[in-house]
Amino acid sequence: MPLLERVEAIYQDVVKRNPGESEFHQAVKEVLESLGPVLVKYPDFAEAKIIERICEPERQTIFRVPWQDDRGQVQINRGFRVQFNSALGPYKGGLRFHPSVYLGIIKFLGFEQIFKNSLTGLPIGGAKGGSDFDPKGKSDNEVMRFCQSFMTELWRIIGEHTDVPAGDIGVGGREIGYLFGQYKRLTNKFEAGVLTGKGLVYGGSQVRTEATGYGCTYFVEEMLKGKKNGFKGKKVVVSGSGNVAIYTLEKVHQLGGKVIAMSDSNGVVVDERGFHLETVQQLKEVERRRIRDYCDYHKHAKYQAGGNIWDVPCDVAMPSATQNEITGKDARKLVKNGCIAVGEGANMPTTPEGVQIFLSAGVLFGPGKAANAGGVATSALEMQQNAGREAWGFEETDAKLHQIMKNVYTICSEAADEFGSPGNFVVGANIAGFIKVARAMTAHGLV
Ligand code: NDP
Repeated sequence: MPLLERVEAIYQDVVKRNPGESEFHQAVKEVLESLGPVLVKYPDFAEAKIIERICEPERQTIFRVPWQDDRGQVQINRGFRVQFNSALGPYKGGLRFHPSVYLGIIKFLGFEQIFKNSLTGLPIGGAKGGSDFDPKGKSDNEVMRFCQSFMTELWRIIGEHTDVPAGDIGVGGREIGYLFGQYKRLTNKFEAGVLTGKGLVYGGSQVRTEATGYGCTYFVEEMLKGKKNGFKGKKVVVSGSGNVAIYTLEKVHQLGGKVIAMSDSNGVVVDERGFHLETVQQLKEVERRRIRDYCDYHKHAKYQAGGNIWDVPCDVAMPSATQNEITGKDARKLVKNGCIAVGEGANMPTTPEGVQIFLSAGVLFGPGKAANAGGVATSALEMQQNAGREAWGFEETDAKLHQIMKNVYTICSEAADEFGSPGNFVVGANIAGFIKVARAMTAHGLV
């Protein structure tokens, strides 16, 4: 069968075997569309059916999570862990707690994670997990009881050499702490390397909290540098106001840019003077409030309930909330308003139509699997410190993260050049991420 037809047949098979999982289909399609030229150059990958194997998770676990709320009512949620690929190292990828979570979301995230982790150059496989539990509006005690019940199932399948979860949407330092405490109790082991994103007092790494936002900003800086440009004086729009968004704000300001809009699922705040980092941190990380409350402290800022953040004109867009948040229409608007670069802090935040619009308009486009790889890379640095019983300083760890992001940029850029799509970091990230995993899978034989 000719190669292009073969790739299309693999995709059709994935759709048939995984019915109703539209986000997973989308993530697979986006990667497969880049891989035709790779099969031409490496026919042994085609013969060993590497693509077909990579699209099938090695193991998927779904479990019941019963817990009691503060009124004593029994609640039931569903937990997931998809261990997608362990060719390069132990499974690695975050946990997402959000009501929208179902198997298709976890599989899309786990699939992306394989290539992202490969691009970091560190020895980590790909996985993802989570639950349809909604931490919003829950007390600390409810979150703790949920996390303890979740871990009471999860602990059987994780371990520092097996599978190392971390945070994602709805899972931050508080949740990781509760999960770690329960794992420690169940196993009677202080196995620090079993989870990353831990608090600094019990084995966490400096810069892990900041890593995804910092890393994404470093990646965009490299793209801009490639065009003899930089963040200085640029107006930047950052969607969301969670972990990734907050540390994108911090690093953009350090590099001379100005973040003028942020959001949450209720609305958008515009602060033309540039967001005040400490206010956002206090509101979101300490008090767990909504972004609209920012305007109580900065009267000149404007809140728009239900607004669309991509209507705000900017030079650089950094989507840092959730999947498919930039549609084709949004992308057209951003291009019309003069946006020159997009860095995906979130996973798959731009729809396929949006990506095509950016690429055709010559907008610098950093896809999530490259641009947001700084989070997992620093998680791998946390594992390294735990294994050596070490704790590196902030500057040292940040310097390592910065270098890793420069390397990710170079790897993507060189692969894009080599396979005939210069400047296309989507193709570059997919190909470079894939080849390393494919080589390891080939070396391991048919397993
Ligand atoms: P957080 O939970 O800290 O923050 C998420 C933010 O996005 C919140 O402001 C939230 O608003 C908003 N958001 C979430 N879902 C939606 C939605 N459906 N519509 C509108 N807004 C939404 O998560 P993170 O910052 O950790 O993660 C953000 C993105 O970055 C995700 O795509 C994640 O997969 C990705 N990512 C995260 C990494 C990490 O290290 N944390 C690593 C790599 C990627 P609200 O409070 O209203 O829900």
